[in-house]
Amino acid sequence: MLTAARKLGKALLDLALPPRCHLCRCFIPEAGPLHLCPACHDQLPLLSSPCCSICGQHFAGAGHDHPCSICLQHPPPWEAARAAVLFDGGCRDLIHAFKYRHRFHLRRPLALLTARQLGDFVVESKADLLGPVPLHPRRLRQRGFNQSLLLAEILGKEWQLPLQRQLLQRTRYTTSQTELSAEQRATNLRGAFSVSDPMLVADKRVLLVDDVFTTGATLAECSRCLLQAGAAAVLCVTVARAPLPAT
Ligand SMILES: [Zn+2]
Ligand SMILES: [Zn+2]
Repeated sequence: MLTAARKLGKALLDLALPPRCHLCRCFIPEAGPLHLCPACHDQLPLLSSPCCSICGQHFAGAGHDHPCSICLQHPPPWEAARAAVLFDGGCRDLIHAFKYRHRFHLRRPLALLTARQLGDFVVESKADLLGPVPLHPRRLRQRGFNQSLLLAEILGKEWQLPLQRQLLQRTRYTTSQTELSAEQRATNLRGAFSVSDPMLVADKRVLLVDDVFTTGATLAECSRCLLQAGAAAVLCVTVARAPLPAT
């Protein structure tokens, strides 16, 4: 709740520096917490049911959630994974600006969008705590921040779940995954993570936070690691999910 003084301060600031949409930069007189104009907000490809109940892959048309054929053939180690938005259009622009152009303030609209879109899923998941997918210290030095931790900080507050910043460690440096196939990604990541303190996850339902679900290889390896350390279950949430490659 904003106090009267803070409300007045914000009103004066809005008058002097009217808020602009994060995407199209148009002025928004009544900026909500997302700072997106109605047109840009409406164009975000939000994901919702029906989807695969295990990996969250979106299905066309109406119906109930159910496992997709890939998850039935190769069940992933996590219990369920969900993303808020398709990694496309405005969502991709926001994540690229946040991650590669150091626009840290964009973590807020991205996290708030995720908090709102996946709120019901998280309540139903009965998670005990949440934590970010870690970066290797070398990558952390290059980038200067872990985007998943910045998102998890806001998500923990929104969902009122304790945040475990050092849930996992990246123990092996891996080359960039972007050019690799799904199978190559899985091999590249084997043994790349360890649980910082198994006591923290023993018998707990752990919610893993990452920015983008691409093939799920990173989340799968982190999940395996947490389950081996004694976690009761792993749930995964990401801001975005990459569209399926054209076949
Ligand atoms: Zn806009
Ligand atoms: Zn699936």
